[in-house]
Amino acid sequence: MTKRFVIALDQGTTSSRAVLFDGNGKVVDIASRPLRQIYPQPGWVEHDPIEILSTQLGALTELLVATGIEPAEVACLGITNQRETTIVWDRETSQPITNAIGWQCRRTAPFMEELTKASGVAEMIREKTGLVPDAYFSASKLRWILDNIEGAREAAEEGRLAFGTVDTWLLWALTGGEVHATDSTNASRTMLYDIHRGCWDEELLELFDIPASLCPEVRPSSGSFGTTNRPGVLTGIPICGVAGDQQSALFGQCCFSSGEAKNTYGTGCFLLMNTGNEAVRSESGLITTIAASAPSSNGGTPKTEYALEGSVFVAGALIQWLRDQLEFIEDAAETEIHAQSVDDTLGVYVVPAFTGLGAPWWDPDARGIICGLTSAVQKSHIIRAALESLAFQSCDLLHAMEHDSGRTIEALSVDGGACVNNFLMQFQADMLGCAVVRPENVESTAAGAAYLAGLAAGIWNSPDELRELHRPEHTFLPEIDESFRQERLAQWHRAIQRCRSN
Ligand code: ADP
Repeated sequence: MTKRFVIALDQGTTSSRAVLFDGNGKVVDIASRPLRQIYPQPGWVEHDPIEILSTQLGALTELLVATGIEPAEVACLGITNQRETTIVWDRETSQPITNAIGWQCRRTAPFMEELTKASGVAEMIREKTGLVPDAYFSASKLRWILDNIEGAREAAEEGRLAFGTVDTWLLWALTGGEVHATDSTNASRTMLYDIHRGCWDEELLELFDIPASLCPEVRPSSGSFGTTNRPGVLTGIPICGVAGDQQSALFGQCCFSSGEAKNTYGTGCFLLMNTGNEAVRSESGLITTIAASAPSSNGGTPKTEYALEGSVFVAGALIQWLRDQLEFIEDAAETEIHAQSVDDTLGVYVVPAFTGLGAPWWDPDARGIICGLTSAVQKSHIIRAALESLAFQSCDLLHAMEHDSGRTIEALSVDGGACVNNFLMQFQADMLGCAVVRPENVESTAAGAAYLAGLAAGIWNSPDELRELHRPEHTFLPEIDESFRQERLAQWHRAIQRCRSN
């Protein structure tokens, strides 16, 4: 049988999915299982690692059954995953010693605050890892497990435990405990990895009191990660690609070159810009992270590539708020009709700083506003202003990325639930002054893992071949002139000033 399919396992925060791709990079079918969120205390978020595995295997089995594909037709697997979520298990029994601590979990926030009070610590972390010191990343979660789970520290010191992010846990389980590895994109989110030297960092391991023996081997995102060894489910399939979800989406959008960027419009927005071989240090509070790269053409280790990353906290969540709290709409799709039913917002701006303002403003005490109201303002104007705020917030981040990196974004690739909104995409192109490209396949996260695996397995020969396969469904070009763009951006920034805490 010809090995003509690639499967991506997409282990996300709320679901585990398996996505089947054919040799043209087209999605053939998707199977999905929901994943339970466990909230033991306010602010704490956990998952059951066994359930992460069983839902992932369940989705994979369902995909094979539904499509009638023989495992012998599958050339390779790729894995993409929710990032930073931390799991520790016993090497002997392969049993997790406690639940996975989720990326959103805030239990270690007081610890991180205390830790970074010491002079030079925050700067050292930033310098080595490219991250803003925070409880979000794996390091403090791992330390918490070692300090709070009975017997954990002793077992760790005796080398009996293994640590991993979700990719590492799945690799371990899929290969029957043969492989304890991660890829460099996931490693770059642990806050224990020096993104410049490309290795676990002794000083950081010491700072967080983590024995080095816990850490997985770090491999390039596209290459060998072992072979599946799950009798009854899948045996003998090579695993050839691994990347954290956002880096996977950047790769899946074919943003292979410096200056190429993508934006995922979901509950929040996730923006990444490829900066090539340069780890750009941000002056705007953005994160510097490792990007997934294609295998090098001469078979050697590829040169590390980097990206700048930022996020909009409230994006699709604002649309949900319009629907659930204000009851302006019944369905998110109605926002497009409302926005297009009026010529402009009549000067209304919505700044959804529900939980403060993120990069590049960093004002946690700011709160949301709707401003510019007159008696002529109707519901449709406010809805239009709300959609515009998604684009304005994204613009602020993209401009910060351009400023920090000295590069110009030529085109923005888009995906995520809200990218179907044509008004929003056109407005984004207008405010950015560059093309906004919505691909035919908006399953970018899964596509990235499939592309990384397929490149290593020889299904595709080069990134250029992938670019050919990755076709745009619609390209939105700017339709306004520069002076009007500058005027609108200036008005938005006046609205931002009005909602700031000081
Ligand atoms: P997530 O993965 O973060 O849960 P999705 O990528 O599934 O999010 O996108 C869902 C979000 O997109 C929701 O917040 C929803 O309000 C928003 N959304 C969905 N469709 C539209 C639309 N047509 N216009 C604007 N927003 C939309």
